[in-house]
Amino acid sequence: MTADVPAACVIGWPVQHSRSPLIHNYWLRQYRIAGEYRREPVPREEFAAFVGALAARGYVGANVTVPHKEAALRLSEPDERARAVGAANTLWRDGDVLRSTNTDVEGFLRNLDANAPHWDRDAGTAVVLGAGGAARAVIYALLARGIGRIVVANRTQGRAEALREAFGKRVSVAHWDKVSADLAAATLLVNATTLGMHGGPALTIDLSELKDRAVVADLVYVPVMTPLLQAAKARRLRTADGLGMLLHQAVRGFALWFGREPEVTAELRALVEADLTSAT
Ligand code: NAP
Repeated sequence: MTADVPAACVIGWPVQHSRSPLIHNYWLRQYRIAGEYRREPVPREEFAAFVGALAARGYVGANVTVPHKEAALRLSEPDERARAVGAANTLWRDGDVLRSTNTDVEGFLRNLDANAPHWDRDAGTAVVLGAGGAARAVIYALLARGIGRIVVANRTQGRAEALREAFGKRVSVAHWDKVSADLAAATLLVNATTLGMHGGPALTIDLSELKDRAVVADLVYVPVMTPLLQAAKARRLRTADGLGMLLHQAVRGFALWFGREPEVTAELRALVEADLTSAT
């Protein structure tokens, strides 16, 4: 490790699959910043000690991935969005204080803004599939953007009901098998489940009731073009994919650690897409 060069890392267990090093090292090269970004495989029982020694290890901050996002929240000074989502994915040192945020919130919104401009103008209902950590970030983001009605459907309905409890009356719950009935009023459909991931079960949902101006977002990014996005494209609906969100959520960490707001370019996207494609 080079002591006088700012360094950041992604901490996970496992962490080999993470594309964060590819993204941040691309930006470091692109902006000719003398910095380093690495993978740190850290098991659950060693996470607290690792984070406690972040400065001693020469790190200005870190990304945090599965299974450490909730522990990262507890071990740091979270901002309001990380607290509301219940998980932190980005840590940075601010003097002696270790701060955290959840960048999935802005990653989701920036990706929608970039791919479906004005998606939130005259917005109707947003339908969110899923009730895990990613769905929490999406719901927080949609509420912050002023979306008036969010319908959540999840295989385990109790988890969707817990989100309604947590986020208030603009959120309502639909039965997982009957969510199609809510699509006619929707201007946004978001898949925040793992359905559609490479090698896993598919998401089967009939999009025919969606309005022509509706936007479909999928958080899954392996594969990049999921069956849901294919179906939306076949209907000529606007779409926002999970790869775009992954790239946009990385912007804030880089800016915090290395002092420059990076750009999500077509070249970066192609680089990460090629890497994802070669892995499937
Ligand atoms: P999670 O907390 O494990 O939640 C998984 C969700 O998928 C739950 O709602 C779960 O329902 C649902 N699910 C799993 N298997 C299912 C099945 N067979 N049928 C119906 N529903 C099923 O995961 P997460 O962190 O929220 O992540 C969800 C997805 O978002 C993942 O694909 C992840 O890679 C992606 N993601 C992408 C980004 C990005 O930047 N693009 C960021 C964050 C997450 P139950 O509650 O019933 O189990």
